[in-house]
Amino acid sequence: MQGINKPVMFLFDKNEEFEGVLVSAELWRKIEPIVSPYMEGETTGCAPTQPERPEPMKDWDTLVEYWDFAYPVNYEVTCDECGNSTPNWIEDSPRKFRLLSANLGGLVNFGCTKCQAKITKKHFKDCIESSTTPFCDEKDPKLNAVYG
Ligand SMILES: [Zn+2]
Repeated sequence: MQGINKPVMFLFDKNEEFEGVLVSAELWRKIEPIVSPYMEGETTGCAPTQPERPEPMKDWDTLVEYWDFAYPVNYEVTCDECGNSTPNWIEDSPRKFRLLSANLGGLVNFGCTKCQAKITKKHFKDCIESSTTPFCDEKDPKLNAVYG
C-alpha cells in the first residue's frame, strides 16, 4: 500500500463510484476496536475491496409476515434502465437484484446488479407502483479525492 499522508482518504473507482475509505495505520489502530463489531463476515486485517451491505432480509420478512395488500406477495422486479428483470428476485442465483431496503409501509428498494439503478416498488392496497432511478454518478466535488 502506498504511503498515506492523510488520516482518512475517500476512495473512488474508475466510474467515480464511492468505494470506501482508506485510513492511516495510526488512525486504524485507534478505530479498529470501534469498527470491528461491524466487520463480522468481512475479511479482517485489511479493508474489503468491495464492501457490500448485507441485504436487510429481516425487513423483507417482516413485510411479508404482515402483508395486508389485496394481492399475493410480489417478487417481480424489472429495471427500466437496462431491461434486467426477474419473476422472482429472491430465487435468482446469482442475484439480479439486491434488496436495499424494505419497510412495513410497503416501500421496497432494489439495486440492479447490472447497471446499479435503483428500483423502487411501492405497494399500495391494490396495486404496485414500480419506478427505476438510473444510477446517478453525480458526486459532491468536495469528496472527490484523487488516489492511485
Ligand atoms: Zn439495470
